[in-house]
Formats: sequence, structure tokens, C-alpha cells
Amino acid sequence: MNHLTETQLQGLADGTLRGPEGLAAREHCETCAGCDAELSAYGALVRTLSALQDPPPPLDFTASVLAAVEVRETQLSQRRHTLLASLPAAAMAIFAIAGWALSTTPAAHVDRLVDGVTVLRHLFGVLTPVFNAMRLPLGLGAFVFLAVVLTALSRTLRPIHARAPGN
Ligand SMILES: [Zn+2]
Repeated sequence: MNHLTETQLQGLADGTLRGPEGLAAREHCETCAGCDAELSAYGALVRTLSALQDPPPPLDFTASVLAAVEVRETQLSQRRHTLLASLPAAAMAIFAIAGWALSTTPAAHVDRLVDGVTVLRHLFGVLTPVFNAMRLPLGLGAFVFLAVVLTALSRTLRPIHARAPGN
């Protein structure tokens, strides 16, 4: 029989190599001094590893974890306040866009409509974190509000689009 591979020796040492293969490997070790020596070394390694214990946590472990949690909560609530403050700004931006759209003369070009869509896309970027922060109720409210504004916008802009030259 060939000498045992490292995998076989490790399996014998940690007891995962069983059955006929484990039996054959053990028999080989009894007749082969080289493999037996390696098996002893692996066995010693396995015993050392299993004797290792997790280092004890530092004495102030709980206190430092709680302090970290407190800092995180403070940061989260500050972020929430920032988002709350940004909500009126976002609403004002919607009003500004709606006002701009309503004041647009019928002769406006499609380019300006495209500009408006770009602005709305940016506005969505601003509102997405707000939705995330407010969760469902306020987020849905803002969404409905935005939908109403968009409906108003489309009603205002559709005739312009239809009347645009070359369409
Ligand atoms: Zn051998």
C-alpha cells in the first residue's frame, strides 16, 4: 500500500476517516513508521487545537457595546431629523416645478418637457431616502401627493406636446 496522503492522515487524527478506508489507513500506520510518526504529529495538533479556548472578552465589553449602540442610535435619529427637515424642501421643489409647468406658455418646446422630466427624476432621487426613512404612511402620502402633481403636470403639458410643431 502507498503511504497515506495528508488528507488521510488528518482524517485519521481528527476521527473523520472511518469505515474500510479508515481501517486500512490505520493498519498501514501500524506497519509504516513514517506514516505513524506523521499521524502522531497530526494527533498532537488536533489535541492542541481542540484545547484552545476563545479569549475572555474584555471586562468593559458590555459597556463598550452599549456605548457603541447608543452612538449609532444618536446618529440614526440625527439622520431622521435631517430627512424630516428635507421633506418640506422636497415639497417646495414639487410646488416650484408645478408652478413652473403651469406658467409655461403653450408655445413651449418639447425640450422643456424633457427638462422637466429630468428635474422630476432628480426629485425622485431626493425623495427615495425620505420614503425609506418615513416608512409606509408618510412615504405613501408623499407618493400620492407626487402622483397628484404628476397628473396635474401631464394634463397641463399634454396640449403643449400635442400642439408642438412637427408632431
Ligand atoms: Zn506509510
